[in-house]
Amino acid sequence: MNAPESETGLSADHIELLHAPALDMSADALLRDLTHYFGRTLGRRTISKQQPYVYQALTYAVRDRLMERWNRTNIAVERADMRRTCYMSLEFLMGRLLTNSLISLDLKGPAVEALNRLGLRLEDVAEREHDAGLGNGGLGRLAACFLDSCATLQLPVIGYGIRYQYGMFHQRIENGYQVEEPDPWLRVEFPWEIERIELSQTVRFGGHSEAYADHEGKQRRRWVHTHDVLAIPYDVPIPGYRNDVVNTLRLWSAAATDEFDLDEFNAGDYADAVAAKNEAENITMVLYPNAATESGQELRLRQQYFLVSASLQDIMRDWRQRHGDDYSGFAEKLCVQLNDTHPALAVPELMRLLMDHCYLSWNEAWEITSQTMAYTNHTLLPEALEQWPVAMFETLLPRLLEIIYEINARFIQEISAQWPGDNARIERMSLISPGPHKMVRMAYLSIVGSFSINGVAQLHSYLLQKGLFQDFAELWPERFNNKTNGVTPRRWLAACNPGLSDLISSQIGTEWTTDLPQLAGLAEVAEDPDFQQRWRNVRAENKQRLAKLIETRTGLTISPAMLFDVQVKRIHEYKRQLLNLLHAVYLYDRNQRGQHDAQLPRAIIIGGKAAPGYVMAKNIIKAINNVAKVINSDRRLHDKLRLIFLPDYNVSAMEVICTAADLSEQISTAGKEASGTGNMKFMMNGAITIGTLDGANVEIREAVGDENFFLFGLTVEQIEAQRATYNPQEIIASDADFARVISLLESGHFNRFEPGVFDSILHAIRDPHDPWMTAADFRSFIDAQERVAKSYSQRDLWTAMSIRNTAASGTFSTDRTIKNYNDDIWRLDTVTPLAP
Ligand SMILES: *Cc1c(COP(=O)(O)O)cnc(C)c1O
Repeated sequence: MNAPESETGLSADHIELLHAPALDMSADALLRDLTHYFGRTLGRRTISKQQPYVYQALTYAVRDRLMERWNRTNIAVERADMRRTCYMSLEFLMGRLLTNSLISLDLKGPAVEALNRLGLRLEDVAEREHDAGLGNGGLGRLAACFLDSCATLQLPVIGYGIRYQYGMFHQRIENGYQVEEPDPWLRVEFPWEIERIELSQTVRFGGHSEAYADHEGKQRRRWVHTHDVLAIPYDVPIPGYRNDVVNTLRLWSAAATDEFDLDEFNAGDYADAVAAKNEAENITMVLYPNAATESGQELRLRQQYFLVSASLQDIMRDWRQRHGDDYSGFAEKLCVQLNDTHPALAVPELMRLLMDHCYLSWNEAWEITSQTMAYTNHTLLPEALEQWPVAMFETLLPRLLEIIYEINARFIQEISAQWPGDNARIERMSLISPGPHKMVRMAYLSIVGSFSINGVAQLHSYLLQKGLFQDFAELWPERFNNKTNGVTPRRWLAACNPGLSDLISSQIGTEWTTDLPQLAGLAEVAEDPDFQQRWRNVRAENKQRLAKLIETRTGLTISPAMLFDVQVKRIHEYKRQLLNLLHAVYLYDRNQRGQHDAQLPRAIIIGGKAAPGYVMAKNIIKAINNVAKVINSDRRLHDKLRLIFLPDYNVSAMEVICTAADLSEQISTAGKEASGTGNMKFMMNGAITIGTLDGANVEIREAVGDENFFLFGLTVEQIEAQRATYNPQEIIASDADFARVISLLESGHFNRFEPGVFDSILHAIRDPHDPWMTAADFRSFIDAQERVAKSYSQRDLWTAMSIRNTAASGTFSTDRTIKNYNDDIWRLDTVTPLAP
């Protein structure tokens, strides 16, 4: 029997869903639902501040309200058969979701009221949520900000990622050393996700590839004798800002295809039967804690293929539902954005699915694939470009290797046609690196398979085309473009800094939340004494909040009157936390010698995680903590200088930190930081940047003007010019301050009973081959810090600079970034959710 059609043309199930009255958004209704979930669903009785289940119950109540909007968005996209983008990323550093969802749904007021009636505060309840730490740092957080902006801009974009059982590790500091602890964030239920077992996919590994003739006698290839793993999707709703759009983040979890081998089990081999299950589940067990450099672990390659294969099969399933096996319009309806090379296997995997499963010819499949894929590069460090051993492909992904070889053969033909006889060029550009241990170059695979290749800041995109990808930019200049990063102003200003948000809105209205360039209106009152005072009041409260967080985590107290000088980001040599440390020692040394003249009370706050295998980064953490211990236990310095290492830097910590920083340290060696996004969060919240001409710092300085930015250091060109003759020993010897800093570090003053703790660091600074050329920028950094001190002591001047930084931050919204992606790469129409 046919289902009756409604006036909207939907089947009976849909009618029931859509005609259900939309849920009440009042405090009363929220309280009623919260109470229901708390008592009846979660089975709890007592409500208290510590009670984690209040958070859970409130989230269910909020999720209900997201769910109807989610359905209405999906139905609208499906009915209009809209073009969509799939944002594929091994990382989504989401952080907490409750406050953001409340703000998006305009439910914060009702939630505050409902909780008040229970004697609870929203902040306390929201604190109970664990960060969803499914990412390492900037790259993963960018993916999360992108999802927020896509939903807010009403763009049909779905995120595809991995549901790691263990996210980013928690960091503890023990005797100055980093100690990693697992993050079992799913131990307590993650109430935002919906398991969708009916959409599971099978992902293959191992086996081999063989030829066969199909029923028409056509020669084809198939992948046989594989070990299969089940991919189960979990959907997380991504609400737009007050527009009823709810997009999807689909995270895949691995499971054994059979719970376990029953024959083996019946034969009494219980352990072996369970081992297969464990091996399958291992794939999504843990996030690789890499930053910038890649580690060549087979399991990591498995993760990458698992994500790509499950996602593309999901896309194909959806396609077949609507278009049957006509793939001619595929590239017109779909775009896949690859977040770095981690999902680069999407190129050969889509080829495989189109040829082996949909029976398209090579040329047809290639036309579709190369018109569907777009690739974003995130690094200029050559050592961070992913490569995987061909030998690993042979055993793990034999069918994909065949396809990669074929892509490469055809690609090399194209180069030869353009540059006949240029074998050096062929070797440079080949997807397979030469030598005894052949490797697949994932960045090149991404470039060859994509119609668009972008960097993430103007300077970065320029340097990619001049350096790392020069040969490719020469071949296909039209494919290269720039998309300067951003951050979402909903999380990074509206939600995390309610005090400043209210002040801003009282001055320029509330539209800045979705039209950030309107912040420019603040420039008018940058020097208004009354507005300045209110600006300082808000910032003082925020500094108090950060001081409290620091006290909770470290036991150290700092006064909000001090300059908060903040560097938080992954610990990496190129980010030069060491340069910051040298400045701290310089200030300490001056104070010891009674020269407090130009100094001002300053708290230097450093936070960030080191990859567990990155020895040098861990040594830097130890060194910071040792110097901090000496400085902080000197009573005479108590109100003058403090050095704090804030443990366990993550998204929710940053939500406190960026609202309270006076000075934002963005001090990487020029040409090494692709963009940075921490720099943008700080600027938006009124911090002033001390920085090199690197990544998006260049654009930040252009936007705010040189007089509101503390510039120092060598430029990219100067770094490269001076590299050959770089002589740090000479630089140190010819600068009395620098020499004293180094000899103080050498003297054992900061490591009385721990000989050798500073050796690797001192060696790195003095090394003429130091890739980060830390010593080269020492003097220039010190001078810039002195300018900082002078400016900060002129209170009104500093406040005006602070206001001007926020006012000029409008362009660093991911709303702008995503508009750029959409105009140039995605070309999506906006979706209007079905009316309730
Ligand atoms: C923004 C952010 C980053 C990126 O910081 P950079 O300074 O750009 O490296 C990393 N981690 C977290 C938790 C962040 O919020």
